[in-house]
Amino acid sequence: MANKELLQMQRQQFIEENGVIFLDNVSKSYSKGVPAIDRINLRINPGEFVFIVGDSGSGKSTLIKLLLRELTATKGNVYVMGNDLAVLKHRQIPRFRRNLGVVFQDFRLLSDRNVYDNVAFAQRVVQTPNSEIRRNVPAILATVGLAGKYKAKTNQLSGGEQQRVALARALVNKPSILLADEPTGNLDPKNSWEIMRLLEEINEQGTTVVVVTHNKEIVNSMQKRVVTMKKGIIVSDQEEGEYIDED
Ligand code: ADP
Ligand code: MG
Repeated sequence: MANKELLQMQRQQFIEENGVIFLDNVSKSYSKGVPAIDRINLRINPGEFVFIVGDSGSGKSTLIKLLLRELTATKGNVYVMGNDLAVLKHRQIPRFRRNLGVVFQDFRLLSDRNVYDNVAFAQRVVQTPNSEIRRNVPAILATVGLAGKYKAKTNQLSGGEQQRVALARALVNKPSILLADEPTGNLDPKNSWEIMRLLEEINEQGTTVVVVTHNKEIVNSMQKRVVTMKKGIIVSDQEEGEYIDED
């Protein structure tokens, strides 16, 4: 068997045994003193939808950055899609990230480009053939309800529309995991709900979805798994959970 296939089989087996996201006693310290993440254990299975909640400063974004391999753990092991991120080589990172979609609170779009180009860009960087890009981009824009806006400059769109472009960009390469760090933090309630419904739809089609949020109302009504962090520790992890307010 070819080496590559063997590796793929090993990854698949690891995912079945340990989850598509697996943190084994992970700590992250930025400097001496209190760690931002403190000996966390977390397993997320393929196809799950998980909310991460907790006060500001509790380590949620640090956790997301560890999963993206923007940061490396100080202690313990982080496994994503069967890859041990501590041993992932720099040249392997682009291929690894290709299977991860990510959305942030502040959209991070190319503001002087139109909607189409923002999404097509994600495909160009992974060298998708043009003929496929021309097929995929309109399809994904239709999924997020922006088919008619492909020519608009993103700085002329509303916040809700901008986040839908960001979501389309995150999804166009068909990632197995979507990570969203406070995706509705800058949106009004109506647009927040639209984004969450889209995340739910994407999840129903098989993508594993991890959403950091402060939106108590949405968390309480969506009945998903809720992981609550406090001072770098997971203090609660509930199926069909609720937003836990400490204060
Ligand atoms: P959250 O996303 O839950 O608000 P963060 O993960 O951003 O929390 O931050 C967790 C802790 O780590 C906080 O105490 C924060 O001040 C600290 N921290 C975050 N980023 C850095 C950084 N780049 N350098 C030093 N400390 C940081
Ligand atoms: Mg944060």
